[in-house]
Amino acid sequence: MRLSNMLFVTLREDPAEAEIPSHKLLVRAGYIRRIGSGIYAYLPLMWRVLQKVSQIVREEMNATGAQECLLPQLQPSELWKESGRWDTYTKAEGIMFAFQDRQEREVALGPTHEEVITTIARDMIRSYRQLPLHLYQIQTKFRDEIRPRFGLMRGREFIMKDGYSFHTDEESLKQTYQDMYQAYSNMLRRAGLKFRPVEADSGAIGGSGSTEFMILADAGEDEVLYTEDGKYSANVEKAVSLPADAEPSSFTTYEKRETPNTSTIDSLCEFLKCSPTQIVKNVLYQAIYDNGMTVLVLVSTRGDQDVNEVKLNNELVKLAEQYKAKTILSLTVPDAATQEKWASQPLPLGYIAPDIADDYITSAQDVSPKFLRLVDQTAVDLKNFVTGANESGYHVVGANWGEQFQLPKVVVDVRKAKKGDRAVHNPSQTLQSARGIEAGHIFQLGTKYSKAMGATYTSESGEDLPLYMGCYGVGVSRLAQAAVEQSYDKDGIIWPVAIAPYHAIITVPNVSDAEQMDVAQKLYTELNQAGVETLLDDRNERAGVKFKDADLIGIPYRIVTGRSLKEGKVEVVERATHKSQELTISEVSQTIKEWVESAMS
Ligand code: ATP
Ligand code: MG
Repeated sequence: MRLSNMLFVTLREDPAEAEIPSHKLLVRAGYIRRIGSGIYAYLPLMWRVLQKVSQIVREEMNATGAQECLLPQLQPSELWKESGRWDTYTKAEGIMFAFQDRQEREVALGPTHEEVITTIARDMIRSYRQLPLHLYQIQTKFRDEIRPRFGLMRGREFIMKDGYSFHTDEESLKQTYQDMYQAYSNMLRRAGLKFRPVEADSGAIGGSGSTEFMILADAGEDEVLYTEDGKYSANVEKAVSLPADAEPSSFTTYEKRETPNTSTIDSLCEFLKCSPTQIVKNVLYQAIYDNGMTVLVLVSTRGDQDVNEVKLNNELVKLAEQYKAKTILSLTVPDAATQEKWASQPLPLGYIAPDIADDYITSAQDVSPKFLRLVDQTAVDLKNFVTGANESGYHVVGANWGEQFQLPKVVVDVRKAKKGDRAVHNPSQTLQSARGIEAGHIFQLGTKYSKAMGATYTSESGEDLPLYMGCYGVGVSRLAQAAVEQSYDKDGIIWPVAIAPYHAIITVPNVSDAEQMDVAQKLYTELNQAGVETLLDDRNERAGVKFKDADLIGIPYRIVTGRSLKEGKVEVVERATHKSQELTISEVSQTIKEWVESAMS
């Protein structure tokens, strides 16, 4: 491609809308253009990158025996009502774009395709002989994200590869899951990225498996905890660790103490000269279940621990039945305004005890009249602990479960693992922290959707059984931007060769010099014929401008038809290192071809 024929517009200034380097660079270098919040146009250079990423994904998927298809983006609400996700997706998370068609039927733009694929499986898979089966597609997804940001990282319209597999049993599902683990690792390695597979939260479905593939970068929205021995890595949402040992309590007798201005753990420790590990901290949450029921949840945990809200949410979903609900719509720490809606009198915030009276809750139809009391494992074994006295400015010391306080019946593990904690598999290893961008997520779904939607098959013995399912997603457009986040310098983007829009760019310093143009045209034809995808910068611009642009757009190899032409040579510069060398014109194509091949192998 000749730059003189391209829509090629670069910006010297960082765009105001962009916060992170990859977003700034992709806009400046003319790869993407913002059209609206979370909505971007992929311009020709970007489209080439996205096609290369897609092709790597496709090759790795096909190699596992999965088959490509294309499912509708417009999805009827009935399917989502069958799976039970219509309300969660349109109301709770509100992530789905839903609207009425001209016949007043409700439809939505697909944020994901479990419902569509399960309907197809229900209709078309009859017998165990058709299994296992794995279908995937590469397509635009729509999600009305709460905070669209960082360009393609969190768009409201983005490209995803999503695949769905069907099996007779868990063993077969696990086999495909393993194959996907390998395929995803291959994809990221081939795209030239540094990444880490991590254990991930699979929500309340539980099950043995979900892995996220994190591209390591400081701008990543996720925190990953891992150990140096390489034996453990998990998303912080899912991570487990050993808590520090509690210090023995310095209090021996139970008494109530005046503790003014000690509503935080730090201030309380300072006032009582005690360790946070001697305190039972009581944190109040408000959960709203999908049937509209509000439940006030009191979590008692050890003073030095924080609550992992993802784990808490999962525990609350498990208890949904108790409230005649299926799932949770929201989980928050209620602010003053929210408390007013259900509190009969102001709560002694900061001084709450595990036994705070249920009559703080006003009776109302859609509010559970009793606190749901949970205790985290770390607080269960504490002796002679400190906790609130249910009165502002007062705490009790020397308290014990089974004496002053009843141990809550529901014991949970909702503590947040953090950097520096000892690892469970080997306490001499401590957890390290890194930031990551979630590029992919593979998931063992089990029979959740097939049971909800009645997707069964006939087994060898003639029984009708629900299909086992797995699902596997890669954010194609997110991955492409993440590659930039991992690889750039002050001059611009440094694309990994495998996903660069072009491999080489020929820069002609002076287009009115006939010899320069002549050699450039010849090399341009030769390189492209040799399979080296090459751009020709034949614009009538100053050499300096062209060099800057070539660096900014990040093409791996630059060929300059400049001064050395006299000796029958051209200058070749590697973008990543800025290393330059002179090559005889006749050896250029072959040499660059070899570099490209070796970079991609
Ligand atoms: P996140 O936690 O980042 O919102 P998710 O759990 O919603 O991701 P999945 O539903 O598993 O993501 O989708 C599969 C992949 O699609 C993700 O791993 C990610 O790479 C990509 N993806 C998800 N949401 C977006 C988005 N808004 N913009 C771009 N890519 C996305
Ligand atoms: Mg999401």
